[in-house]
Amino acid sequence: MSRLKSKLAIEGGTPVRQTMLPYGRQLVDETDIQAVAEVLRSDWLTTGPVVSEFEHEFTKLTGANEAVAFSNGTASLHAAMYAIGVDVADEIIVPAITFVATANCIVYQGGIPVFADVHPDTLLLDPVCVEAKITSHTKAIIAMDYAGHPCDYDTLRVIADRHGLILIADACHSLGANYRSRVVGSLADLNVFSFHPVKAVTTGEGGMVTTDDEDMAARMRIFRNHGITNDHRERELQGSFRYEMVDLGYNYRITDIQCVLGLSQLKKLPSFISRRRAIAAKYDAALANNKAVSVLGVHEDVLHAYHLYVVKLQHHQLRVSRLEIFEALRAENIGVNVHYMPLYMHPYHKQFVDNDANEICPVAEEAFDSILSLPIFPSMTNEDVTHVIEALNKVLNWFAS
Ligand SMILES: *Cc1c(COP(=O)(O)O)cnc(C)c1O
Repeated sequence: MSRLKSKLAIEGGTPVRQTMLPYGRQLVDETDIQAVAEVLRSDWLTTGPVVSEFEHEFTKLTGANEAVAFSNGTASLHAAMYAIGVDVADEIIVPAITFVATANCIVYQGGIPVFADVHPDTLLLDPVCVEAKITSHTKAIIAMDYAGHPCDYDTLRVIADRHGLILIADACHSLGANYRSRVVGSLADLNVFSFHPVKAVTTGEGGMVTTDDEDMAARMRIFRNHGITNDHRERELQGSFRYEMVDLGYNYRITDIQCVLGLSQLKKLPSFISRRRAIAAKYDAALANNKAVSVLGVHEDVLHAYHLYVVKLQHHQLRVSRLEIFEALRAENIGVNVHYMPLYMHPYHKQFVDNDANEICPVAEEAFDSILSLPIFPSMTNEDVTHVIEALNKVLNWFAS
């Protein structure tokens, strides 16, 4: 690299690329658009046949007996908490590093999120830390498949069974992943997905819960429809006006417009995941000998879905903090991101931890200071990948200690 080219964009040099590369984005093509247009011309825009079709495809994909679709992933998590009967003061164990919704769904139902530390190698919920947090009030564990790497469900299942707990997977990152040759969506008692545009497949907004438990599925269908026992289309078919509200629910329904997009996107899930894995392999190869970063561990018994590609900065090799590296990469037009701040560091979630304990989840806190998510999404070109690697090398060399 010439001296001119190596000067950081943040210090007035030329950026590695001219336009901002986001960390994630959807891939919607003409067949998706056609499919949506057809539903717009049909009789049913919501609670119609395409919702059931999308749910059916999800049972086929995951091998679960039941799939219930919702307006978004957060509503799906809320419904899961309702289905398992979370009550006031029930404790649910969640990883310290996750999206806020993983814990918020517990609070919606009056429960208390209990934060357990993650494993330094994968940033996945550490089973040893989970067991240490179990009390007589613990009702369930929500594992989160961080970055698209499935958690160790066999070990978590043993712990859950030993203590009579329900095991839930927040699988919002891991649609399309495998664990010991088993498909994500059938690994926990309830498995939750999101179809936000940055996720593996999108419906704009949308979510799903898969389960083998028919009673819980029935409860979730009522919950997403105000607590009413039948929906508009069922009443039409029965020629009836009568409905009964049996419990307090919400309007968490998804539309047929969204579900048809989901159906069209699902067909492309295998190609989306293989592209994500190919990009990850390029990053792995390029970063293997870079002492300034380490990549997260991947267990041999999983197929990783690579919702995120996360690197950890090696601070002893660098003379600046993560913030300077982050800002320098942004100036190079590389849309790096940080997933996530330990939840209890948010002003709202502080109430759920003991203020006197200065390090509640030390591994999560240490990781938070060094993690960076690099751009990864199926429509990224090889040139985009090269830009990320070039910018990372440029910035890390500049700030080498
Ligand atoms: C995206 C996401 C959610 C929430 O999904 P929405 O569809 O945005 O409501 C929950 N948990 C995790 C880990 C997520 O990444």
